[in-house]
Amino acid sequence: MSTTQDQIRAADAHSAHNYHPLPVVIASAEGAWVTDVEGERYLDMLAGYSALNFGHGNRRLLDAARDQLERVTLTSRAFHHDRFADFCTQLAAMCGKDMVLPMNTGAEAVETAVKTARKWGYRVKGVPEGRAKIVVAENNFHGRTTTIVSFSTDPEARADYGPYTPGFEIVPYGDLDALRAAVDDDTVAVLLEPIQGEAGVLVPPPGYLAGVRELTAARGVLFMADEIQSGLGRTGRTFACEHEGVVPDVYILGKALGGGVVPVSAVVADRDVLGVFHPGEHGSTFGGNPLACAVGLEVVAMLRTGEFQQRATELGDHLHAELGLLTGNGPVREVRGRGLWAGVDIDPSYGTGRELSEKLMARGVLVKDTHGSTIRIAPPLVISKEDLDWGLDQLRAVLT
Ligand SMILES: *Cc1c(COP(=O)(O)O)cnc(C)c1O
Repeated sequence: MSTTQDQIRAADAHSAHNYHPLPVVIASAEGAWVTDVEGERYLDMLAGYSALNFGHGNRRLLDAARDQLERVTLTSRAFHHDRFADFCTQLAAMCGKDMVLPMNTGAEAVETAVKTARKWGYRVKGVPEGRAKIVVAENNFHGRTTTIVSFSTDPEARADYGPYTPGFEIVPYGDLDALRAAVDDDTVAVLLEPIQGEAGVLVPPPGYLAGVRELTAARGVLFMADEIQSGLGRTGRTFACEHEGVVPDVYILGKALGGGVVPVSAVVADRDVLGVFHPGEHGSTFGGNPLACAVGLEVVAMLRTGEFQQRATELGDHLHAELGLLTGNGPVREVRGRGLWAGVDIDPSYGTGRELSEKLMARGVLVKDTHGSTIRIAPPLVISKEDLDWGLDQLRAVLT
């Protein structure tokens, strides 16, 4: 079974249809490029929703993983292992925080943050039992668990999964007054993406994140930044919050933390917050396993030099300058984003985001549409300027 159509037919027959992939079957990859089972090459301008910030088959990450594969891969947290302390120490230092709680997927890290905020609310803030409230934003994406979709406003993500977990209030994203009105004495946390990725790379108005920081500090509420997609270099900084000089109480990390090799996620905060957990109160069989820690440690080391942030800034400026030239004349209505990350809104009369993604695929570029008429562009940060320009040429050909 090797041809594209055979593979897709078999996948359709034997896997749940909870995705609608582009009709390409990838067999290998390197850097910003993937090769399909027919031998065709494509420029990956999605990068695993930013899980592949460091590119496919990154040497340093593969070496770190291979070394660790040969030594020990799993101990469970019943025992210590010799990569754990290093990973937690280095990641905490990168975040300017005291402590790390490692998990695997992004959704698990968000769940962990929700538990952290509630426990902190009852044990530290003194919220009456059962009353803890977390304020979130409209059009958020924080993952797929039952609790997380309980506070989603996306009908596709949420419908049919009730009864829903209570304890969340949803306010419009970017609206400080609405947030101020929602925060009350029972509020334990505000949970936000500093840039909303799945919603279409929505950048909040200037001053919003700083305003959230000021409000939460004044009201004794945790500011929890879901930097799973926006963090770790994508926007030109280690964290998207840095663009507004904001330090949240809790960082939620995932995706690129595992270097596209293994799932690695984490909640990172100071001792007065993460110190609420005692043995047995939370856990994960795979969380903080030796392989995950070895890869995560290398990711942190790579981010320490600032070279990836620098690339994202320089190539991102170029990307946004070029996309800006496309805006207004023709199908492109609006372009948003920061660093090497853009949401391109298409006039629906020129076709759906899906149709445009398929046209781009035919020209050797892989992107993914979101919410009907937005195309999301997020190539690996290792992409060369020449490859980025070639990708932009294909985009121009399809969009003009
Ligand atoms: C992808 C994502 C998640 C969920 O991560 P998974 O690893 O898919 O569970 C959560 N929050 C944000 C902002 C994301 O982009």
